[in-house]
Amino acid sequence: MHAVHTKATGIAGRVAAVVVTVAVIGVFNASASGAHPNPTITREAWGSTAEGQVDRYTLTNDRGMRVRILTYGGILQSIEVPDRRGRNANVTLGFDNLADYVAKSPYFGCITGRYANRIALGRFTLDGVTYQLPINNPPNSLHGGTVGFDKHIWATTPFRRGDTVGLVMTFTSPAGDQGYPGTMSSTVTYTLTRDNSIRMEYHATTDAPTVINLTNHAYFNLAGEGSGTIDNHLLYLNAKRYTPVDPTLIPSGALDPVASTPMDFTRATAIGARNRSGFEQLVIGRGYDHNWVLDRRDSSYVRLELAARVLEPTSGRVLTILTTEPGIQFYAGNFLDGTLIGTSGRMYRQGDGFALETQHYPDSPNHANFPSTVLRPGQTYQTTTIYKFSTGH
Ligand code: BGC
Repeated sequence: MHAVHTKATGIAGRVAAVVVTVAVIGVFNASASGAHPNPTITREAWGSTAEGQVDRYTLTNDRGMRVRILTYGGILQSIEVPDRRGRNANVTLGFDNLADYVAKSPYFGCITGRYANRIALGRFTLDGVTYQLPINNPPNSLHGGTVGFDKHIWATTPFRRGDTVGLVMTFTSPAGDQGYPGTMSSTVTYTLTRDNSIRMEYHATTDAPTVINLTNHAYFNLAGEGSGTIDNHLLYLNAKRYTPVDPTLIPSGALDPVASTPMDFTRATAIGARNRSGFEQLVIGRGYDHNWVLDRRDSSYVRLELAARVLEPTSGRVLTILTTEPGIQFYAGNFLDGTLIGTSGRMYRQGDGFALETQHYPDSPNHANFPSTVLRPGQTYQTTTIYKFSTGH
């Protein structure tokens, strides 16, 4: 089951975007250079799509972190965080222009929905009715179909609350959109906190029974995007089981133990240490592209619990992921093939970034033994995920 609540969420309508520029006040004058005494949030126009103008918001906190978010797809376009010596780098893969996001993004940084990950043959049955979704990843439907939540402009309202800044983003998907039943009203709230975290809160309601699985699809390279392979990153996953897949990357339904396989990240291990092992599941995915079953104490999916931690040893940057979700897709950028030029002008090749997508398991609508992804009228879908950045050894 989802964490569902009967209390209605206050979903704001399309609110005229207000430029909020919080002046940087010289509160701390001790070491003026590089100091960010207050959180700030600014907006700039960043091109347009058929739906209208796209804005880019820039959020900073007073710990040197700077995050850029597009109203198109709620995309985390840039995430600058310090290394262990205080030097910033942008650690998320992306583009420096909107046209590339629209034309060829492999889901860089976006809100992914209505159903993140795959649904077998793009088909599911709910309350006796069978629904057909677009087959955009033959023979399956991937990440909500041809025009998913990542390809729309979200109505966005900036806010500043104490020492945090953030954005409330809303999008209403009409009944029948991409074949899914029910009008779905979704709100994603991004908050940049003082402890260098990006907090992502997802809420949704529907007017008819439907399925839902929202996530963020950021790719990371903690040494800096465009700096090369992520093979040296040490990955820990809080998961003793994973969902093995068939050759089309659809789960068989089994929850297999990771023990004694290259899928075991219960001890931090370099991503590149075993990814050429010939293990059948890795051959199918051309590397890691699987859902891990998170070891949770709270099986009602309400409490935030540790899902993953990644350390890049050279920079010392650490990414810790906490979530209320039951699963996490670890995708090691296997399909990056050198055809995309990233934000800083460098080419992305296979394994130059990884995604850790907190989620319900792939193809849940077709697996009665997986936690349910059904959302009904009167319920509120509610999940939270945190990307926390720090440094370590
Ligand atoms: C999937 C990959 C897919 C990628 C698309 C990931 O979430 O697991 O198989 O290629 O998204 O960019």
